[in-house]
Amino acid sequence: MTMSTKIWLSPPHMSGLEEKYVREAFDTNWIAPLGPNVDGFEQELSQYLDGTHIAVLGSGTAAIHLALVLLGVKPRDEVIAADFTFIATANPILYQGATPVFVDSEMQTWNMDPELLEEAIVDRMKKSKKPKAIIFVDVYGMSANIEALVRISLKYDIPLIEDSAESLGSKYNGRHCGTYGAMGILSFNGNKIITTSGGGALVSGDPDYARQARFLASQAKENTLHFEHSQLGYNYRMSNVLAGIGRGQLEVIEERVAAHRNNNQRYRELLSDIPGLIFQSEPDEKYFSNYWLTSIIIGEPDDRFNSQSVIQALGQDNIDSRPLMKPMHMQQVFKDHPAYLNGNSTYLFNNGLCLPSGSSLTDADIDRIVGGIRSVRGKR
Ligand SMILES: *Cc1c(COP(=O)(O)O)cnc(C)c1O
Repeated sequence: MTMSTKIWLSPPHMSGLEEKYVREAFDTNWIAPLGPNVDGFEQELSQYLDGTHIAVLGSGTAAIHLALVLLGVKPRDEVIAADFTFIATANPILYQGATPVFVDSEMQTWNMDPELLEEAIVDRMKKSKKPKAIIFVDVYGMSANIEALVRISLKYDIPLIEDSAESLGSKYNGRHCGTYGAMGILSFNGNKIITTSGGGALVSGDPDYARQARFLASQAKENTLHFEHSQLGYNYRMSNVLAGIGRGQLEVIEERVAAHRNNNQRYRELLSDIPGLIFQSEPDEKYFSNYWLTSIIIGEPDDRFNSQSVIQALGQDNIDSRPLMKPMHMQQVFKDHPAYLNGNSTYLFNNGLCLPSGSSLTDADIDRIVGGIRSVRGKR
């Protein structure tokens, strides 16, 4: 039996435009964490993201770390973070010696529940102290209920960090994800909607935050000929070679978003007759998701047809799929940290999965994936 070709969850998708910028870097010998591609990528991202200020960095994780440093997060401070996310959202809180406090999701967007957030803030202020920052996530490309989160941020005067690692190209209320809060962060890891193989960015409406991030990301080196350092710095800048890949990718971002949304629409049509199947969906016209990963809940699972059996069946046909995020409160690294829970993140983890969603997916691929899902139901 020949093995059918592998379908990946979210593979990189080069446009062909990247090589021109990368070759320029070689031809001009800018093989360094600075140079014309770094400056160009920052300007082009700024233009795309409604004129915000950008610092391109080595990873999205580095961007979150610098955002916490810039907000003055120190040892023993508390920082609120989304419970339903990838671990990179929360690890930098520990890098600062601070304590993460996790807040569970609401079921409309699967992102941070604003009511539970307010409960958590009030409870922390009573039991411990006022949290220093709130990191919310736009998971799988779907923005959180940002209006409600902003209202709470203003009411308690706690700054927001928007983790838009998965939501470049998504919008909320007509404004790009990543541009909300004191700072936003992006990731250009290999699996994200556009990639530099590895990379990230800090986004802010405040030019000082972006300037400070570039400074701290370059070992906090002062502008002198000799090496002068009066602050703790990091080596977090993006390489000029990789920024070249980013420039070529950013040129096709709208095509990539359209392709991901197309995949999502096709899955909805082809799976609409399966009882209890729930797609992560835009709650109303305020939301515009890039649908980075099409994600579903098997809402009426039984012994045969459930998220594990579907993942297994797809795997047998060489198709990559994955359970939804394992919540932070269930991770060993965070087992001793406070969490405000309503059961939703655990429910999502136990009953949901992400389907292959790459922008290079063909109609035939989607037919094969849908066939794989149906084959599990057929056995009942
Ligand atoms: C990918 C991702 C990150 C981290 O980005 P890296 O560039 O891989 O460091 C952070 N948060 C979320 C939600 C992510 O999916």
